Amino acid sequence: MSQIFRGLGVSSGVAMGRVQLVDRRRLSVPRLRLSHAEIEPEIERFERAIELSEAQLGDLRGRAAQSGLSDVATLLEAHASMLRDEHLRDATKERIKLDGVNAEWALRSSVKALRDIFDRLDDDYFRERRSDVDLVGDRLLRNLVGEEADPPSGFAEDTVVVAYALSPADTVPLYRSSVRGFVTETGGPTSHLAILARDMSLPAVVGVAGLVERAGTGDPIVLDGDSGEVVLHPEEELQSRFRVRARAKQAREVELLEERALNSETVDHTPVTLLGNIEVSDEVAVVLDRGGMGIGLYRTEFMAMEHRRLPTADEQLVEYRKVVEPLKGRPLTIRTIDLGGDKLARILPRTDASSEVLNPALGLRALRFSLRNPESLRAQLRAVLRASALGPVRLLFPFVTGLEELRWAKEQLKEAEQELSREGLPFDVKMPVGVMIETPAAVEIADLLAQEVEFFSIGTNDLIQYTLAVDRSNDDVAELYRPCHPAVLRMLRRVVQVAATAEIELTVCGEMAAEPLHTPLLLGLGVRSFSLNAPSIPRVKRVVRRVTIDACEQLAREVMLVATAEQVEQKLRVALETWAEEVFAGETGDLPSLLF
Ligand code: PEP
Ligand code: MG
Repeated sequence: MSQIFRGLGVSSGVAMGRVQLVDRRRLSVPRLRLSHAEIEPEIERFERAIELSEAQLGDLRGRAAQSGLSDVATLLEAHASMLRDEHLRDATKERIKLDGVNAEWALRSSVKALRDIFDRLDDDYFRERRSDVDLVGDRLLRNLVGEEADPPSGFAEDTVVVAYALSPADTVPLYRSSVRGFVTETGGPTSHLAILARDMSLPAVVGVAGLVERAGTGDPIVLDGDSGEVVLHPEEELQSRFRVRARAKQAREVELLEERALNSETVDHTPVTLLGNIEVSDEVAVVLDRGGMGIGLYRTEFMAMEHRRLPTADEQLVEYRKVVEPLKGRPLTIRTIDLGGDKLARILPRTDASSEVLNPALGLRALRFSLRNPESLRAQLRAVLRASALGPVRLLFPFVTGLEELRWAKEQLKEAEQELSREGLPFDVKMPVGVMIETPAAVEIADLLAQEVEFFSIGTNDLIQYTLAVDRSNDDVAELYRPCHPAVLRMLRRVVQVAATAEIELTVCGEMAAEPLHTPLLLGLGVRSFSLNAPSIPRVKRVVRRVTIDACEQLAREVMLVATAEQVEQKLRVALETWAEEVFAGETGDLPSLLF
């Protein structure tokens, strides 16, 4: 029976094969009191672990250099010198001696102290290096407790590596092996793994919660590095769809990219804005490469995941600058942090986030989280405002359910503006402010919200989840997750009408915007701006360039008269087959997205 998971696709392509499990959970470390006589042998044990770690890193460095991975070799060299660093080696030995504790406990304290030093440094490069401290500490710890520090090498032909986390050292033996792809529970799009996977052109998905627990070595698995879909024990039919998808994907991508420079407009010359959704700054290059006209949704919560904490205003500004500058005057919409719910809650303290809460999707999420942590919102608003001095930036508040929250958030913005003015720092005094329309409450009060913001962004992912009462990440109810449910479509129609009446801008930024099947319907309902993942931009553009607004409006009228999601989908399928069959067949047709 297929088991479906969803994570974040960080390296494009489809992989099929068998699981090789590399379980890299954090080790729990007991604190043991040592007698006087036990101290010296304990220090020797620690020294042996250092020697072993040095030997392992030396070996890996050699293999990395041989494989032409010079960046990885340099990184491993840095790891090796960290092993000899006084803050790690000497400090740990001191702790064993003075505190009379076991080497594991002493090491953990030294790693924490070292990490704190890196955190305090006012330099992003060095702050980023704290993850290297963790990796070195982890290797030492595993060698101390006698756990294998590196994953096995010599993989079978069709291996897909599944791990809780993979370090750069872990990936070295995988390079030029027959590994077909990676899936990890942790990690973000700019994690070392993601960067290396892209370098190796291997599909990778990160952030797949719960997979390690359910997967076993040898289990059949498929993964899609674009959509982030991962399926364990795929049934034969699903496997063959994936195969078709992989082949079709390659061929079509090449063909669609040829239209990159053409105008995004319908046959009757109605311009349609196609923006990109990004999670990290690096992705802006991919959006531009696929013909994106700006960034319509920057999901900044992924920054918190990368840092494993809430980033400071300065850290955020560095990232925003990396997005604004390559955009060269194209628009950028930055959404304030949307943590909680199904999103990476594990990185936050239990009281702040919702991973331990029974009903997280209805819990302390997004703007509600900001209400409890006003200083984190203020830091972000400060960074966004400062970025607005560098190019056209818009600010977007997620998960709004009432005017009180919005007014409070805008109040915080005003205070951040005053603060910057006092400091003489520039910002755009007219920076547009918008709200995500992603809860039924926001739809109901859209007319009121429209009076207080400059734009709407419809988040269909959550709007569908909350309207249909279907958890968007629960595969048990995935079949009930129907974007074309009449309840959803009526809401979309209403919000578009409210925005038009209030003369404010509207973008659809949920996954519906990325699905070519929905493009004619959304156009027919009056949507003229879409924000979507970069790989989908050329496909949606192809549909836009094949339709007329009249025909789309006619389709929308017909669709709004039918009573079930199934009937709607049927009508949309027929329409798309007429207009842009090549976009439909092979990808959306043969393998509908598993969760959306
Ligand atoms: C949405 O809910 O549709 C959306 C775009 O936001 P996210 O997927 O980040 O919740
Ligand atoms: Mg959302």
